[in-house]
Amino acid sequence: MSQRFDTLILGQGLAGSALAWQLIEAGQQVCVIDDGHLTASSRVAAGLINPLAGMRYSRRPQLDDWLGLSDRWYADLQHRLQRRLLHTCPMLRLFRSPGQQRFYNRVSEDPANRDLLGERFDSDQCPEPVSSPYGGFVQHRTGYVDMPQLLHHLRRWLTHHGALHEHTLDYREIEPTADGVAAAGLRADRLVFCDGARVRLNPWFDWLPLAPVKGEILNLQIADRRLGYIVNGAHWLVPLTNGEIRLGATHDHKLIDDKPTSGGKQELLRGLERLLPGAQFRVVAHQAGLRPATRDRYPLLGRHPQFPCLWVCNGFGARGALTIPWYTRCLADHLIRAAPLPAEADIRRCR
Ligand SMILES: Cc1cc2nc3c(=O)[nH]c(=O)nc-3n(C[C@H](O)[C@H](O)[C@H](O)COP(=O)(O)OP(=O)(O)OC[C@H]3O[C@@H](n4cnc5c(N)ncnc54)[C@H](O)[C@@H]3O)c2cc1C
Repeated sequence: MSQRFDTLILGQGLAGSALAWQLIEAGQQVCVIDDGHLTASSRVAAGLINPLAGMRYSRRPQLDDWLGLSDRWYADLQHRLQRRLLHTCPMLRLFRSPGQQRFYNRVSEDPANRDLLGERFDSDQCPEPVSSPYGGFVQHRTGYVDMPQLLHHLRRWLTHHGALHEHTLDYREIEPTADGVAAAGLRADRLVFCDGARVRLNPWFDWLPLAPVKGEILNLQIADRRLGYIVNGAHWLVPLTNGEIRLGATHDHKLIDDKPTSGGKQELLRGLERLLPGAQFRVVAHQAGLRPATRDRYPLLGRHPQFPCLWVCNGFGARGALTIPWYTRCLADHLIRAAPLPAEADIRRCR
């Protein structure tokens, strides 16, 4: 008789990888089904960790949980895989208008933000040679996760544990049974969908309020410019360890495909010209992907209302690098010992 698993996971993006890691570490028999990252937004993502993302620098109530666990999880992963995956680097937040300085003033009054906020600077004191007409401030506890490396090494780790099945799963292959679920010739107690933006084609969970946002991103070689900070204005620049700079990202709510476009490239290069006027550059790579975003910007965790063997772990939008370690830990704790799911992420809010 073929092996029976505790949990099947569909998708080896960051969400499926992190959930598999947490469950296997807790002693579960797990198998991840993935098609070689055919549509993984995790492979395209810059992997930025930005605790005060957004125009208003708002602090989400769950931030301490997200930051605390992401710090610990990436450190543990690096130690176990013997690879550097999280690159901490301070971030320059450039004000986009004089009015935005008010939002900074407000968040700087909250003592909880003390370790996140560095000094404020005027336009002529910017620590990097970038154009910052309204000045800005330095932000701490920021950085980026090397997502392609992380996915690659976790894929090897899963293969080593006999926990990876390379396959494109047709949703019609999934069969809830009396005591669990069967899919792609595998049997398990449950199946968790970590299928990213493809969940909108998933007949079991297509009713969830996913609002995917297309994003395009460039890798550049820029002559004579070295950055010691991540720069974040209307667009952002991330200095990579190989000397390249990532320039991102576009936000398109209408085009729901993952193809790079010349319009997206032009928009990004206009953003570069505003940040680094006259920079001499060469485009090394141009990629696009779909962020699996939700309208309320919280993820989607939980059990199918009619089929108890089917679960979802999705909707991480533009901040999966920061939030996926925490929410996959919560889901793993829920599956293993019935710990409550965080209310803000529980799909019961969507019914
Ligand atoms: C341009 C861009 C920039 C971004 N920048 C950042 C950033 O700086 N910081 C940040 O935190 N986030 C960023 N994101 C968002 C980030 O990518 C997501 O939050 C996160 O990676 C989502 O991970 P996931 O595992 O849920 O989905 P995905 O990474 O999409 O993974 C889903 C996986 O499931 C597989 N799959 C789906 N269906 C099937 C099937 N039927 N059979 C087999 N396999 C299947 C896919 O091929 C894929 O491997 C960015 C996204 C884009 C597009």
